[in-house]
Amino acid sequence: MSSVRPGVVGATRRCPHCRETILESAAVCPACKHYLRYEPGAGAAESTQESAQTPLRIDGSIRHPPDGEPWEYTVVVTIRNDRGEEIARKLVGVGALASGEQCTFSLAVEAVEARTRRPGKGGR
Ligand SMILES: [Zn+2]
Repeated sequence: MSSVRPGVVGATRRCPHCRETILESAAVCPACKHYLRYEPGAGAAESTQESAQTPLRIDGSIRHPPDGEPWEYTVVVTIRNDRGEEIARKLVGVGALASGEQCTFSLAVEAVEARTRRPGKGGR
């Protein structure tokens, strides 16, 4: 299922609700927003999200000119590593814009400090 073993930083799993590949550490699926597990000791769900940062966020809109043929659009997101190699490429969505219509696109990269778990000590 995943090349990264559970418990390792960057480990992934499939969301049981929407089947997207997400971080194993996620308490809430970022794709469908379903809760994935109960956080023991966390009074509010927000407490796990407080440490999340958004080091990159891009918002932009396009508006079709008032005249002319409708547009069809394709949204593709790619991720490249330090060496410029493409490690992920995803078609996010497609759609159409009619005359005068506007669409807004938002891209957010969320980052959290990974809590590394050392096996054999301090387990619950
Ligand atoms: Zn999901």
